[in-house]
Amino acid sequence: MELADKQLKCTECQVEFVFSSGEQEFFRSRNLTNVPKRCPSCRLTVRFARCGRDVEQLSDVQCADCAKPTKVPFKPKGYRPIYCNDCLAHRKSSSFQLGSEIAEHANLLVTAGCA
Ligand SMILES: [Zn+2]
Ligand SMILES: [Zn+2]
Repeated sequence: MELADKQLKCTECQVEFVFSSGEQEFFRSRNLTNVPKRCPSCRLTVRFARCGRDVEQLSDVQCADCAKPTKVPFKPKGYRPIYCNDCLAHRKSSSFQLGSEIAEHANLLVTAGCA
């Protein structure tokens, strides 16, 4: 089945965000069937707070690909590129051989907070 990008609105900050086909694919591969109510940044913040983690650990960074501001659940060390969820999902779906670095980063985004 072909997946199409979906335009969604964050219930938290009211910002519109794209639930990309790549990200949908990514969700599906992890048996996450629900559609995200919040934008990636709010999702991460909420997940952290729910698990009693220090939200201070979240860092505001700029995607190395599309330059969109995004949040990551770690302090970037500066030697590896950081991507937003969209670009990450896109990279993931467009390559068969996933680099361990990207896989690791994607895992962090999905499991952040409750690992
Ligand atoms: Zn939001
Ligand atoms: Zn990006």
